[in-house]
Amino acid sequence: MSKYIFVTGGVVSSVGKGITAGSIGTILKSRQVSVSVQKLDPYLNVDPGTMSPYQHGEVFVTQDGAETDLDLGNYERFIDVNLTAESNVTSGQIYSAVIAKERRGDFLGGTIQVVPHVTSEIKERFKRLAQSSQAEVVIIEVGGTVGDIEGQPFLEAIRQMRNDVGRENVLYIHVTLLPYLSSTQELKTKPTQHSVNELRRMGIQPDIIICRSDHPISEGIRDKISLFCDVNREAVIPLPTVSPIYEVPLVLEETGLGQLIVDRLNLKADQPDLSQWRELVRCLKECHEPVTIALVGKYVELKDAYYSVREALHHAALYHNKDIDLLWIQSEDLERDGSEALLRSAQGIIVPGGFGIRGVEGMIKVASYARNNEIPYLGLCLGMHVMVIDFARYALGSEKVNSAEFDAATPYPVIDLLPEQVEIQDKGGTMRLGNYPCQLVDGSQAAKAYGQSLVYERHRHRFEFNNEFRSRLQEAGMIYSGLSPDGRLVEVCELANHPWMVSCQFHPEFGSRPSCPHPLFRDFIGVAKNILREGAQPPLPLSSSL
Ligand code: GLN
Repeated sequence: MSKYIFVTGGVVSSVGKGITAGSIGTILKSRQVSVSVQKLDPYLNVDPGTMSPYQHGEVFVTQDGAETDLDLGNYERFIDVNLTAESNVTSGQIYSAVIAKERRGDFLGGTIQVVPHVTSEIKERFKRLAQSSQAEVVIIEVGGTVGDIEGQPFLEAIRQMRNDVGRENVLYIHVTLLPYLSSTQELKTKPTQHSVNELRRMGIQPDIIICRSDHPISEGIRDKISLFCDVNREAVIPLPTVSPIYEVPLVLEETGLGQLIVDRLNLKADQPDLSQWRELVRCLKECHEPVTIALVGKYVELKDAYYSVREALHHAALYHNKDIDLLWIQSEDLERDGSEALLRSAQGIIVPGGFGIRGVEGMIKVASYARNNEIPYLGLCLGMHVMVIDFARYALGSEKVNSAEFDAATPYPVIDLLPEQVEIQDKGGTMRLGNYPCQLVDGSQAAKAYGQSLVYERHRHRFEFNNEFRSRLQEAGMIYSGLSPDGRLVEVCELANHPWMVSCQFHPEFGSRPSCPHPLFRDFIGVAKNILREGAQPPLPLSSSL
């Protein structure tokens, strides 16, 4: 039977609960304890797929096609597992399921209530993941902050679990923030005390408190939290802000958290082996020479909107012993005259995914810039669409070329809906989602990167390359380097006569891991690192005899 670790958050959101939950997974896995992870999101959306990236950040797509919270990306990167739809549960899913059961008559005669019906449905999801993953420990992160109205049924469900599966099989970890007052130069514990009180009010006494802080946490502060929150001193775990984030498991291990969890849950565990992780962090800290990459998107004000893209770039750079200097460029800014100056220092350009027309002309312009100036270019989904539009405008000699997403009346819809997408009215969960196979063409840049001919990659889009234009663009120099096995869908395309301009219809960023960069990102950085950009030329070796 699986044991459960419930991770709650206190004081404020964004304290790094997701990274902490992932890191707990890392330190357990380093002891050969198998783990799975689940995120509970209290909002009423069924999934984040219909939310603006400005609201929610990136939508992370699992192999089985679920649109999920970006924390699942952190879990996958920290624990190196491929999760499924079962790892993200929202209030929207829970209420839909309960109401569907009610309509079916499953509760005939009964009054449907939050306790027990909603809470039972929530617990059912915990047990389902435990069953399907067969993990020894299931780590469950409750989204939001303790005290949120929407989160209450989730807290009640995790409280009930203590009785359902036995106190010895459940551990509650509360992650809080210790704010720093610069006037008195001290960290304050009161918000943590309040948040633990709030948890207790719900019937949950935390076993471990992880204290996030931007400043060193003294022993006195630990004692105080231990006393006021009724948690053993060794279970008050300081977690100062570290960079890179991949250092968090090492910091937590250092505090004794791994052994504490093993003891409390009475787990059968080996000695921890974090040597690979240590090596990774050492390399990340030692790589100083940057490769400058321009990330051109429409949601750049919120960096979380491109979370996995940013991580994948760092993984790839690390492979080449480099750091990444990321230029965040708002694509709308590129629509102005003379704006190309913004790109001058970029050694490579990446255009990630996105929806809707805003900023698209700026992205098409950047694809044109990369094509004409032989700058390495990696297009991800929408990034492929804009590369195809730019190339077709050039090859067909018409500025009217477009995607049907942005101009439904264009005479040249080089990107269009498939017939099976045309009829779909609902917006939620109706895109091409999750893993699909892709057959690579020998000799192409893509095939070279992957080193194999059949790959599976995660998708999230409605529009596709329009086959009507395939031969005309091919004649002009476009190579279709990845196709669906039936040959019907263009999955990867690239340009002949260009050092490296490769785009894919899927999202390779979701598959990248710190110690195993995605092949397309790896080769993109591999080419970009050798591009000399303005201002980067080494000084000429002038000799005095000249
Ligand atoms: N908006 C495009 C589509 O729906 C691209 C989506 C994306 O970039 N993920 O097909």
